[in-house]
Amino acid sequence: MNTRPIIVWFQRDLRLGDHAALSAALKTKQPIIPLYIWATHQEAVPPLGAASRWWLQQSLQSLEEDLKALGSQLVKRAGPPADVLRDMIKTTKATGLYFQSSVRPGSPALESELKALGNALGVDVRRFRGELLFAPGEVFSKTGTPYKVFTPFWNACLKAAPPPAPLPPPKAINSPETFPKSEPLASWELYQANPDWAAAFPAQWHPGEKGALKALTSFTKGPMKSYAVERDRPGVNGTSRLSPHLQLGEVSVGTCWHHAKAHPDSAAFLRELGWREFCYHLLAHWPQLDDAPFRPEFKHFPWQPDDHKLKAWQQGQTGYPIIDAGMRQLWQTGWMHNRVRMIVGSFLVKNLLQPWQAGRDWFWDTLVDADLANNSCGWQWVAGCGADAAPYFRIFNPVTQSKKFDPKGAYIRRYIPELKDVPSPDIHDPSSAPKMVLEAAGVELGKTYPRAITDLALSRQAALDALNIMKTKINRKDQ
Ligand code: FAD
Repeated sequence: MNTRPIIVWFQRDLRLGDHAALSAALKTKQPIIPLYIWATHQEAVPPLGAASRWWLQQSLQSLEEDLKALGSQLVKRAGPPADVLRDMIKTTKATGLYFQSSVRPGSPALESELKALGNALGVDVRRFRGELLFAPGEVFSKTGTPYKVFTPFWNACLKAAPPPAPLPPPKAINSPETFPKSEPLASWELYQANPDWAAAFPAQWHPGEKGALKALTSFTKGPMKSYAVERDRPGVNGTSRLSPHLQLGEVSVGTCWHHAKAHPDSAAFLRELGWREFCYHLLAHWPQLDDAPFRPEFKHFPWQPDDHKLKAWQQGQTGYPIIDAGMRQLWQTGWMHNRVRMIVGSFLVKNLLQPWQAGRDWFWDTLVDADLANNSCGWQWVAGCGADAAPYFRIFNPVTQSKKFDPKGAYIRRYIPELKDVPSPDIHDPSSAPKMVLEAAGVELGKTYPRAITDLALSRQAALDALNIMKTKINRKDQ
């Protein structure tokens, strides 16, 4: 038996079950060195935000424990991945390097570099599909180009061969006689506790594979039945909350797919996994999606950056309760309901005319599920400049949205205690509520709760005017 090791590099996909690279390494019967690299020099990807760093730290601890339980170890190294891997292959005399691929900017180039490195060193470098249900090179339109519209994309996915059944987790992992030196997780200082922020995270979230599988099972046993209706109600726990787990691959999207597919009411949920897939495929084909508007005419949009407005939005102090509840949910829990993400996003870019990249950055820093593909796609969608995006002129009215999706104000009351005694429907728009109602509820506008930061009708018109300015600029350029 070959006693030289195989390195299994956990690029993302921080789990042991349904891990094709790990399963293939186990089949060789050689010792395995599980490796995680804190990629400090990956310039193509923005540095992780604070909430993501909190999650990553917990997730790595969990992966370490799971490996330990199988008689293995997680070797941790910081540095540029290609350098770390070259050094690791040489010092351990590994015969193979196995990993799951990623479509994130920089990863495809790095993976090709590793293939070349393998050839040069005579090492078997194998990459396996990671992150996705379908490889981006497998789903193209009839003209052989990537899809830019979701529905035909998803129909094509549904017609393709279904994702393979999930692979079982290992029962034991062969270890080398000695493991290479590993850096202590604490030395990376992934997360520095702030006395207030993130205090509530541990009670809400259980990072790691076990937590992910538990979230999947409780969702499919419970809320999935009424997901098609309840998924839009922020006051109800009607969605899976799998996003931070999926973001790091603590559970594979294939496992979610197969687990859900076994239920009769899964179509709406699978479609959302489809949106994730769509965003990832877009990012794979347009790596600049994170920053450049997918519809290039939006480069000429006359945004009006304003720190005061941005800060009021970030802090949940706009005077529109559904917006403020969403922004406070984000700050307190590291997560925000999808319907509310759309409402707060529309409000920022349309009613407040702030560049979508300002919202993207705040989400990137504060979301535990901050995901390059989904966040870029989400922000481009609300800003009207993305692929298959809501047209810019379709402007959400936050008060109407609030009345429709949080009719009794349950969500608002949870995150804005100062409004808890305001009856509905006045709770949706305190600035228009009768004085007596506010007094009876102990609300003093401008003191206990802010006045509305902007007039909805006027700011809506200003947004439409801005759109026309952009169109005029483009027409002038065309002439
Ligand atoms: P569920 O409703 O249970 O859906 C299951 C899974 O499907 C999610 O976990 C997610 O992986 C995927 N999914 C659902 N909706 C979408 C969608 N619209 N686009 C892409 N994938 C989707 N999602 C992130 O994971 N990370 C982000 O950084 C992110 N930023 C966003 C920013 C904006 C402005 C908007 C409008 C949406 C953003 N989303 C993002 C998408 C969506 O809001 C979240 O995926 C969802 O709220 C996560 O909650 P859940 O796991 O309970 O979702």
